[in-house]
Amino acid sequence: MARLKCTCGNSLSNSTDYETDVYYIFSKKEILETIQKNPQLLYWDFYTDRESPCDYWFCSRCKRMMICSKENNRVERVYKPIRLTDEKMTIDTSTWLEFYSFTDNELLALTDKNYEQGYEMTLQEFYEKYPRKYFYRISPEEKRIFAYETASKKLSFIYEQEE
Ligand SMILES: [Zn+2]
Repeated sequence: MARLKCTCGNSLSNSTDYETDVYYIFSKKEILETIQKNPQLLYWDFYTDRESPCDYWFCSRCKRMMICSKENNRVERVYKPIRLTDEKMTIDTSTWLEFYSFTDNELLALTDKNYEQGYEMTLQEFYEKYPRKYFYRISPEEKRIFAYETASKKLSFIYEQEE
């Protein structure tokens, strides 16, 4: 069990089963490279075998995102939502690293569903079919994160690293 205090004062926790403030981040590059190496790899094996050096937290109160080192449980970086402006809307992010974010609950619910259906989803199927509301792109210097709605590809919100 882990806890984290957000700058806004909110207490975050990953303790309760179906309510969690922890997110899992998969980069598109990582997924595609893994599929290429092993097209039959099950999504569950990818998800559970994967060693991420960080935990990703989201505060539902102030919408801040926090990256926390697993080694010493210290907050390494904080991102906060900023206002969309016309100038920012026109920034070309097509070469930025693309990633997806899932909650533990989403992934567990999917696994439960697969299990009920006696079915195991491959990572490729997960990547191609599992609905994601947003996709994200991070700037090369990792100061900004742009979130796009998957269906419309419209820029929905922007995060900026807090100093
Ligand atoms: Zn907060």
